[in-house]
Amino acid sequence: MRVSLLAGLSAAILFAGSATAQTIALTNATLIDGSGATAQRGVTIVMEGGRIRDIGPAVQAPAGASVVDLAGKFVTPGIINGHGHVGPPARDPQLRQYALYGVTTTTSMYFDQDDVQAFKAAQKAGDLRGARILTVMYRFMSEPFKPGSENKTPEEGRAKVDEIAGKGADMVKVWIDAQGGRFPKLTPEFTAAVMDQAKKHNKIRMAHIVELADARRIVDQGVNVLAHNVRDQEIPDDFIALLKQRDVSVISTLAREEGLFVYGSDGAPTDNPFFQKGLNAERLTLLRTKTRDEQAKDPNRPRWLRMFDTDKKNLKKLVDAGIRHGFGTDSGGALDRYFVQGWFEHRQMELMRDAGLTPMQIIQAFSKNNSELLGIDKDFGTLAKGKAADLLVLTRNPLDDISNMRSIEAVYLGGKKFE
Ligand SMILES: [Zn+2]
Repeated sequence: MRVSLLAGLSAAILFAGSATAQTIALTNATLIDGSGATAQRGVTIVMEGGRIRDIGPAVQAPAGASVVDLAGKFVTPGIINGHGHVGPPARDPQLRQYALYGVTTTTSMYFDQDDVQAFKAAQKAGDLRGARILTVMYRFMSEPFKPGSENKTPEEGRAKVDEIAGKGADMVKVWIDAQGGRFPKLTPEFTAAVMDQAKKHNKIRMAHIVELADARRIVDQGVNVLAHNVRDQEIPDDFIALLKQRDVSVISTLAREEGLFVYGSDGAPTDNPFFQKGLNAERLTLLRTKTRDEQAKDPNRPRWLRMFDTDKKNLKKLVDAGIRHGFGTDSGGALDRYFVQGWFEHRQMELMRDAGLTPMQIIQAFSKNNSELLGIDKDFGTLAKGKAADLLVLTRNPLDDISNMRSIEAVYLGGKKFE
């Protein structure tokens, strides 16, 4: 015990020492802090030990700090992706790609290997290597999906929640989807048990839903976050009132809905350099041939277009009603889906704009709102004194046009420039 305590102490001293040496002051920035407050000019942000030591227009850069003059430039919080996927392995390149596109925290909403917990611990200790990761560890699904449908009875569901909570899952997620009527859904008895057990472990409860009826049911069973919008119909006022009453947040994944058809149409982003950055040449070729042809003749295409349109309408309704709207994309996962990490997050912002949201509402969605709905707002989300120094430097003003979020000049992750 004594030896490990000493080792821990010296590591802490070393860490503190190197952090002091790496004090960085960003000066003359125009700050959009994510809270919804109007942009502030002439702001200095002092970063030290991974956090924001000081921030404001009256703040001076401390002696010995390395100073970066951001005159004419803009600072926003890093992007938190409330619905992402990290997998299949390897993990590092995916988190790196997210971070290079400005995503400083992502969720992993599918299945993770047990070593993700050691990885998370290393990230907490400062070895970030890319976007910070939060994980569900395991996703409760219905037949025929494996993994996911191994647990059949409510008792088995509860036992599985105990297991993943014990392994350090950050959230618990159920997947309620008949895939257009092809498969059975998780039963109400099963999802009720999983929600209840997750509540006992004090875990954030999330659900994948498509239909209004399933959304109602899982809200009744105590879900905290709908990880997709309702997409089978426009949502009625009484459902919005229920969301408000239960303090349920909703993540619209418009980039996903578009990704199901866009590669088979004229609107495909395949020639866009910002898109191409996220793909290698081989994958880009496949996308321009096989995937394009498959999507162009997909018999479900009219259905995907309808769902995309419904998602937009419902997002605008939710935001107008004051429901906490999160930010997520469904990016990552199986490579042949072409839900491209990083690109999808920026595309999501443009689609939220097309749905009628203001740039400020979109920025709040990926910062403040997401930190709240993921229960990490004490340390992340808005840019304020004492919070993690996860932020983006932009050369163009995102409040003029949300597409300017692409003008990333630097990503600071835990107070260090990520390259
Ligand atoms: Zn997903």
